[in-house]
Amino acid sequence: MVARNALLYLSRKEGLKDFATRFKPFKNLTTRFVAGETIDDAVEAIRKINKIDCTASFDHLNESVTRKEEADEEVREYLRVLSRIDATGIRSNVSIKLTQFGLGIASELAYKNARSVVVEAAERGNFVRVDMEGSDVTSITIDIFKRLHAEFGESTVGIVMQSYLRRTVDDVKDILKLPARIRICKGAYNEPASVAFPDKKDVDDNYVRIMQMLLSSGIYHGIATHDEKMIEATVSFAAKNNIGKDAFEFQMLYGVRRDLQEQLARDGFNMRVYVPYGAAWYPYFMRRLAERPANVWFIAKNLFRP
Ligand SMILES: Cc1cc2nc3c(=O)[nH]c(=O)nc-3n(C[C@H](O)[C@H](O)[C@H](O)COP(=O)(O)OP(=O)(O)OC[C@H]3O[C@@H](n4cnc5c(N)ncnc54)[C@H](O)[C@@H]3O)c2cc1C
Repeated sequence: MVARNALLYLSRKEGLKDFATRFKPFKNLTTRFVAGETIDDAVEAIRKINKIDCTASFDHLNESVTRKEEADEEVREYLRVLSRIDATGIRSNVSIKLTQFGLGIASELAYKNARSVVVEAAERGNFVRVDMEGSDVTSITIDIFKRLHAEFGESTVGIVMQSYLRRTVDDVKDILKLPARIRICKGAYNEPASVAFPDKKDVDDNYVRIMQMLLSSGIYHGIATHDEKMIEATVSFAAKNNIGKDAFEFQMLYGVRRDLQEQLARDGFNMRVYVPYGAAWYPYFMRRLAERPANVWFIAKNLFRP
């Protein structure tokens, strides 16, 4: 827990970010969790993912953008991504973060930028998932998502919910009424006990409860986890309630539990892999380290190997 908090704290440190992104040995180690720096790198990774019968979701790494020009460039990047998906025929949608589109500058800017990407996705028959970030932006993220959903509908835009937040069951009930597609995950940020369950058991119990709400809703949702207990709970709930394998999808991160990704696809489940790419990999990479202390040893070993 201490190690997790320390890594999540470091993930927000700008100075360390500058150092790490310039330090070549460190950068080389990111290849386990990050597909590369360019769209071409991500396309290559997704071709391989498609070959093992999994779909994908592009994630251009960048968050907490502070300049309008940078947010504008993020929009252009996503428009290029949507066009490349069509040109290459790969099976993928896109995931976006509202702080990447300027939420920290002005919420209306983030809304307009996200809308530009959703317009393009709608024209191309693709889908945009709005990722969920820290609890300071949960409400505004849901509000912006609802505006996009009201205009473009369930099959073009979806949202993410985090089972570690105390508020999430109520949010899920509200969003299911729209109706809308949800990706449920445990949550990756450092949150105080006032807003998030501090004990893993409570986060997991809440995850199972929400997964059951989602599967019972008749809407196509994403069950995002590498936790075998969560996966088993999902498979057995679906089987007991005659919910078909096509009624939902599992989702996992690039480079995490590839064995399980392949296995689920072989077993006939829909499996989507979230593929992050881009130069701004530092906070994403640190959150992945925080999730599993063994990853830190893996990094340390490789970093100091002669
Ligand atoms: C597709 C997808 C999208 C996501 N989107 C968001 C989002 O929008 N917002 C958000 O806050 N979070 C997001 N997350 C991250 C999520 O919240 C969790 O932090 C992450 O998935 C770890 O939780 P877990 O369910 O895998 O369970 P955990 O209990 O953390 O892990 C269970 C097991 O999975 C394996 N594992 C988990 N993480 C790693 C890792 N990094 N390296 C190696 N093994 C690992 C280990 O074997 C571990 O024992 C997303 C996750 C996925 C899969």
